[in-house]
Amino acid sequence: MPRSREILIQGTIIYGDDFSAEEGYISIRDGIIREFGREHVDADFEGLVCPRFVNAHVHLGDSAFKDPPYLPLSDLVGPGGLKSKMLGDTPRARIVEGMRRSLEQMVATGTCAFVDFREGGAEGVAMLVEALEGMPLLARILGRPGAGQKDAPKSCWGLGISSTRDLSEEVVGALVAQARRAGQAVGIHAGEAGRDDILSALTLQPDFLVHLSRAKEDDLKSVSRAGIPVVVCPRSNLMTGAGLPDVKMMVHQGISVAVGTDNVMLNSPDMFEEMHLLNKVLLHDDRQVFKMCTLNGAKIIGLDQRLGSILEGKEAKVMVLNKNSNNLWGSVSPLSSIVRRAGPSDIIAIL
Ligand SMILES: [Zn+2]
Repeated sequence: MPRSREILIQGTIIYGDDFSAEEGYISIRDGIIREFGREHVDADFEGLVCPRFVNAHVHLGDSAFKDPPYLPLSDLVGPGGLKSKMLGDTPRARIVEGMRRSLEQMVATGTCAFVDFREGGAEGVAMLVEALEGMPLLARILGRPGAGQKDAPKSCWGLGISSTRDLSEEVVGALVAQARRAGQAVGIHAGEAGRDDILSALTLQPDFLVHLSRAKEDDLKSVSRAGIPVVVCPRSNLMTGAGLPDVKMMVHQGISVAVGTDNVMLNSPDMFEEMHLLNKVLLHDDRQVFKMCTLNGAKIIGLDQRLGSILEGKEAKVMVLNKNSNNLWGSVSPLSSIVRRAGPSDIIAIL
């Protein structure tokens, strides 16, 4: 097999797991970052180079009915709520089309991998697999039983539970045990509508929790002691009135925090937007926020050795931004500008 051509990118490289801004180049061959060097090369692309995002929590299935009326969380996404009604009323082809369009938008806005919480049982998983065909995205799908079904789909990466409050303890316990026997990961929404489902979720020893926007210091201490990572979705929390996660406290407690855009019907699956909000509202720590949107997300899916940062040997899932765009020109801190203001219109190339 012929070796693929080497691609060279010159400029400011957001390099390594500490995301330091280094002047130089990277070389890419067969999709892998081969080399980082400081000399000037005859490059294919030039600009500000950073790893692409990992969207650690999204629901793509509701892409076909965006921007519903403002409703309380339970009326919107709870059992029997607006979302489940809309899903039931929307033809299959339209749901798949919505997923497909969101996937394309994720690629265009710099995401390379994502974790989807899939409703609708095995059929829901099949729809996403169909939408994913030919898409340059790495998908981790967590399924759950469809309406009236007892078992969760086995044909996917994991089990994604809405909240322990939506199901009896017995049913949740059986689903988790089944998933573990099948070697699947387990992710659970918790601390979104209230704090009362956090401890019950923790006792199930999930691989990660989603939201914890209602969690208090004691809850976060318990999560930290259990060593369980958390995925936060602040824009979703603002839209549903679920409060905002205390990300500063999570970091203080040593919890690994990743970031997701949650339901597409509420917010675009654009990680730049999530990152801006997280940075401006919850944590003035550019390095930490960028890590949450990249490397920590990769860790959630067990791929932090392959994705999430620019290092020799890792996959070249990178994007090149235009340092000379009206938006980024005059930056005195490349990483800060990415975290605080960069957007899809600054992207020159996506690899
Ligand atoms: Zn969710």
